Amino acid sequence: MRESRRTLPDLVRSVAVALAVVLLPGLWVALSPDPSAARMRDLVGLTAPQDDRSHTFLRRQNPGGGPVGWDPCRDIRYVVDPAGAPGDWRATVTAAVDRVAEASGLRFVESGTVSDRDFDRRTGLFGGDPPVLVAWADAAEHPPLAGDVAGVGGATAVGSPGRQRYVTGSVVIDTEDTADLTGRLGTPHLEALLVHELAHVVGLGHTDDPTQLMYAEGTGVTELGAGDRAGLRALGELPCG
Ligand SMILES: [Zn+2]
Repeated sequence: MRESRRTLPDLVRSVAVALAVVLLPGLWVALSPDPSAARMRDLVGLTAPQDDRSHTFLRRQNPGGGPVGWDPCRDIRYVVDPAGAPGDWRATVTAAVDRVAEASGLRFVESGTVSDRDFDRRTGLFGGDPPVLVAWADAAEHPPLAGDVAGVGGATAVGSPGRQRYVTGSVVIDTEDTADLTGRLGTPHLEALLVHELAHVVGLGHTDDPTQLMYAEGTGVTELGAGDRAGLRALGELPCG
């Protein structure tokens, strides 16, 4: 699956007449005291429809329709490729997953560790849907991480128009920014970055409200705000099936 940071249409690929698969990455700019870092904005955040100031959804079933999300009656399985991750990655990932689960009501199930560098092609058209992958990489391996981007998160939707569901996704954290996030800035910021990217995986887009964790740039906010929580709750309250 191709991934692009340029325009939304570039991210959309139809794989069959009645089956559309889309990966919508959200990028988070690294936390940095350098004001020049603030110049970079996430293109998904700029182009996503703005629901209100407090939260947006990455994708809607149709214009003005409900958000695309996961089936809340099914577990969201996830695996971790710990290559390049800090030594205490498990506690940090688990804490981040728990926070998104608590805020959304969605159920996550850890399905172990893997060695899987296929961050984009997670369509699972044959043999079932692969679990969400959480991994670390550098920009040389995963070009969307180039520049100030600290992480990329997105989900793959399947289904006919109007009935799409996310079935898998990925979170890729920049190994170079991880050093800053765990050292100079502290583990809470790495956990916050993971929460931000996992919120993309379950369907939240960016907001232009800088007090929310789903703001495209790292501003030092580490807690989910009221708008973030309202969006996550809505995604967890979608009908089953
Ligand atoms: Zn983002």
